[in-house]
Parts: sequence; C-alpha cells; structure tokens
Amino acid sequence: MSDLQSNDLIIGIDLGTTHSLVGVVDSGFPILLADSDGRRLTPSVVHYPVNGEVIVGTPAARMRAVAPGRTVASVKRLMGRRRGDLEASDLDDLGFSVKSGDGDWAEIAVDKNTRLKPEEVSADILRHLRSVAESALEVEPGSIQRAVITVPAYFNDGQRNATKRAGELAGLKVERILNEPTAAALAFGLDKLDENARVAVYDFGGGTFDLSILEMRDGVFQVIATDGDTRLGGDDIDAALANFFRETLDLPDNLSLEQQATLLAESRRTKEALSHAESVVIRLPFFHEGKSWERVVSRDEFEKVARPIIDRTRPHCLRALGAAGLIDSTGSGPGLNPVVSGLDRVILVGGSSRIPMVRELVERTFGMTPDLSQHPDEAVALGAAIQAGILCGRVRNVVLLDVTPLSLGIETFGGLMNVIIPRNTTIPAKAGELFTNAVANQEMMLVRVLQGEREMAKDNWELGQVEVAFSPGPKGSARVGVQFSIDENGILNVLTRDTATGRDQVLEIRDAAVDVDDEQVEAMISESVDHAFDDMNERIWTEAKLKSDELLPAVDRALAAAGDALNEAELATIREAADAVRAAVEVPSRDAARLKKANQALDEATEALAAIIVERAMEKALGSSLGE
Ligand code: ADP
Ligand code: MG
Repeated sequence: MSDLQSNDLIIGIDLGTTHSLVGVVDSGFPILLADSDGRRLTPSVVHYPVNGEVIVGTPAARMRAVAPGRTVASVKRLMGRRRGDLEASDLDDLGFSVKSGDGDWAEIAVDKNTRLKPEEVSADILRHLRSVAESALEVEPGSIQRAVITVPAYFNDGQRNATKRAGELAGLKVERILNEPTAAALAFGLDKLDENARVAVYDFGGGTFDLSILEMRDGVFQVIATDGDTRLGGDDIDAALANFFRETLDLPDNLSLEQQATLLAESRRTKEALSHAESVVIRLPFFHEGKSWERVVSRDEFEKVARPIIDRTRPHCLRALGAAGLIDSTGSGPGLNPVVSGLDRVILVGGSSRIPMVRELVERTFGMTPDLSQHPDEAVALGAAIQAGILCGRVRNVVLLDVTPLSLGIETFGGLMNVIIPRNTTIPAKAGELFTNAVANQEMMLVRVLQGEREMAKDNWELGQVEVAFSPGPKGSARVGVQFSIDENGILNVLTRDTATGRDQVLEIRDAAVDVDDEQVEAMISESVDHAFDDMNERIWTEAKLKSDELLPAVDRALAAAGDALNEAELATIREAADAVRAAVEVPSRDAARLKKANQALDEATEALAAIIVERAMEKALGSSLGE
C-alpha cells in the first residue's frame, strides 16, 4: 500500500446531516474511501439495538422504518443545542425522542434507561468512518488517530466544540474544524484563484440548504456572508413526491409506518434517477393488501413538484449576495435576476445539487455557469482530505509551477551529484558554485546538468551539458563558476564562466527544470528514499576514495623528500598505514567506513613527516633569502 502506513496519517471527514464521508491524501492525490460494499457515502444513521452492537450506516438506515425510536438520524441538528432552543420543525419526523439533559442540553432517549448525548451518537458515526478508512487503507485497526472534520459555516462555538468532542470520544485528535464551504472551495481548486477572489458555495443537501460567500485573503478563505435554511433539502422533495404519488396513484390513506417509509424511499430513488433519465418508472409491488402500483414519471412532472421547493433557495442566494455587496444596484439583468458583480465563481455542493433544475436556478440567479468539475456530494469530503493532507505534509506537489519539484545540480568528481538548487525551492531562484580542475593539465571541464534526488550522478536525469575550456595548469588551478537561474516561467539558464579569462557560456534548458510529470517526481523521490542508505554509502566511499587518491602519491613524495629524517619505526608505521589504505581501496565490497578510517590513520601517521617537510621548506626559504 503506497505511502500510507504510519500513525501520522490524518483523515478528512464530512460529517453530514444525511451522509458522511471519509477521505485521505494518497501519493499527493485526495481520494474518498469506500466501505466493503464499495459505498463512499455512509448514511449518518445509528441504530441502538436492545442487545448487541451499535449499527451504523446503510443497515441502520433500514432500521428506521422498523424501530424509529432506537434509530438516530440527522443528529447533526442536535449538536451543541439546548432542548429549549429547538423548534418544533427541528423535532418533527425525527422518529426518536429528544429530552432535556444537564444544562438543558439536548439528549436522545433511545429507551427509558438509555440517554445519549448528540456527540456520542456522532462519535459512533466517526468510529465507523475511521474503521472504513482503516480497512480501505489496510492499516491496523486503531492506528488512525487524527482527523479534520467539517462543519457548516454558521455553526457557533458550542456546535463546533460538540463536534470536536465527538471526535475525541471516537478516539480521534481533531486537528482542525473546517468550514464546509471552505472545504468545497479547496476541492474545486479555488485556492489557486487570485487573492481577493470571491466564490459562492451553493450547498443543497438532504435536510439543509447553505449559501456561503467566501473571499480569499492572505492565502486563506474567509466567510464573508452566509444564509440558508436548516429545514430545506432533498428530504422535502422526497416528501412532496411521495404526496404526488399518493394522489396520482390513489394510494390508500391508512399506510403503516413501514409502508410510508417504503413510499418515501421509492420517491427518493425516483427523484435521484430523474437527475439523469428523462422518465422513470415508480413501482410499488404488493404494497398494500397484496395490491401493486406502477407509474411512469417524467422529468417535467417531477419538476412541477420540485420547483416550489427548489425556488425557496433563491431568496437566500440573493440575501447573501446583497450582504457581501456583490449585487449591482444600478441595473437589473434579464427577468427578475439581479446583476451580480465581483463574484469569480459559483460552485455546487450537496447531493440535491445534482438535480438539473437546481443547476438552472443557480445559473439564472448568479448570472454565471456553475463550476461542475467535482461531484457535488463529494466535494466537502475531498476538501477535508486535502486539508488533512496539507496538515500532515502529504500535499507537496499540488503546486508544481512555483517550486522546483526536484533538485538541480551538476556532476562533480567521482560521479557525485552536487546540488545547486535543492528541490522545493520557490522560483525564480538563482544559485551558483565555483569548481576546479581535478587533475593537472586538464584543458576542459564537462558540466553535466542533472535533476534528481540521488547521490550519484548516474542515477539522476541529465538535462544537458556544456564543455568549459580553460588553460592547462596544476590541479586546482582552474576556477570555473557555474550558476543556475530559473525564471518565473520555469526556464533554467546555466551559466559557466572560466574566471581566468572571464569567458561565459550559457546553456538554456526549457521546461524540464520545473515541468516534470507528477508520477515521475513521486518515483524519483521514493527511489531516493529507498536507496538513501546505499546512496549515502556510495557518496562517502567516493569522497574517501578521492581523498586516498590524493593522499597516497603525496605520502610517497613526502617520503622521498624527507624520509631520511625519520627512524625505522616511524617509517614502518607510515608504510603500514599507507598499505592499509591501499588494501581498503581494493576491498570489492567498498567499505566506506573502513577506507575513511584508514585515510585518517595515514593522515595521523604522517603528521611528523609533514612537519619536517614544512620545517625544511622554511629553512630553505630563509636560507635562500639570507643568501641574497
Ligand atoms: P448532507 O450534506 O445534508 O448530509 P448530501 O449532500 O449527502 O446531504 O445530500 C443528500 C441529498 O442529496 C439527499 O436528499 C439525496 O436524495 C440527494 N441526492 C443524492 N443524489 C441525488 C441525485 N442524483 N439527484 C437528486 N438528488 C440526489
Ligand atoms: Mg453536506
């Protein structure tokens, strides 16, 4: 399983009134996680059986018709709220009983002896989502311990704290409580819009409608206006459609609770199908006293039923636009539509936004085509996953254009990669270094421009090369400057200069420096991690080998020049140390640590010899100056 293992993983959760979802960033991409049945949307329903384990999600939703009193749905409406503040409309058709607890906080009584706080019910949903994530990611149960959870923008402190407590009860550290519209904007990639960009988020869910207007300031979204109706959503459309069927199919009045639930579920299925199909057949086989019903419903018929409900979202849009100062009062558009000005984008969120008629209403009201690039019912969860990914550092390559995705450098002595501009440097960027000739009488130097994270040049990608000519001289006498600069368009210029002559050469490398395929970047980085140990050993070896290559001839020269000043024992020590270096160089397994040690020992053994050479050189210098 890719790069997801450790407990530093943070999951993103859309804890919705009707549905909840969980997601995560994997290899740089946000994904939503499905349960074992392949479902990404978990109904936010919890069933508390008389005996046995709590049931969450789809099987719990089925229990609503059978045991409504023990089945808690839409618990989000009760989060952080006092019993006395709840309105009749918050409570009707809940199906279970809501009591007043300590401090008048709302509590759910699933039976005489069992009272549950709303956050305890939410915690059961969160626990379930966590286990969905753990199985989908194939990690140990209980290993996911951190989460980002979304809430409506209008949630007050109490409601946000209750949500946080729900997370903690589920054993999750809540790293951030994120506004739903902000999460949606992240999912649509609107964080890449300019500073001061304004976006409207139209969120039409199962039981709530929220309109938020966000403005991007200092790189973060701020909610500048919200409006909506906490009792308006797809459920209302289901109910209206069920009534339509009762009338047009002439269904009996005395339907049982279960029959009502079946009719409602069938209405909902019909509604959802009509978002794609022009007509759908509703079927109620053996529905009542052995009788069956069946009828074709067209999109037109559906729209007549749904229109009054969908139209109710419009005044909220207008109010929020007005509050944000985005309605141009000097003119009016076609029909009764206002002129909206200063709004950059409108995005659709929530399952009910899948209805084509909703899209038309949004287009008319806002005077612009909504952005349909994401699934409306998945956007909030995707955004939560992205935020979670940002918090745990998993979203690194999202912004590719303004940073270097991989390190840039050149090959130096021994085939090593010498990094000049490290990976993730913001562009434009400029950096350089001075290089010298490795051997005497060298006449030119080949500058190979490399990209990648590996220690050895050969394992990185070559972007180009230049030959720099210079006048021959002893080792280390040439001075070649290499400067890399990347401009804001991602063009890399490599400038080489022979400092003796001042002669410049420029190599231009287009695109390659910044424009790398995400997958290749991922592959390069994971390879560099996989090979980190070997690569490091290789680098230390190469450096040690370069040192030995320098040291051994130098020692031979020193012995020839001043060996006579040392006694036999001293000479033997030096010869032994030199042999040890030669032996270490020969070891086929390339033991870098051994070679480094041998070099060091040789260095130490020749200290006295080096001192004598320096002394003699000084005497000579003094003598000759005296002699003049
Ligand atoms: P919430 O955020 O309130 O939990 P969701 O965003 O999950 O709600 O929206 C749930 C609602 O979306 C339900 O009423 C469901 O019937 C409706 N819905 C889902 N898919 C479709 C569809 N294809 N067409 C119309 N409505 C849909
Ligand atoms: Mg929602």
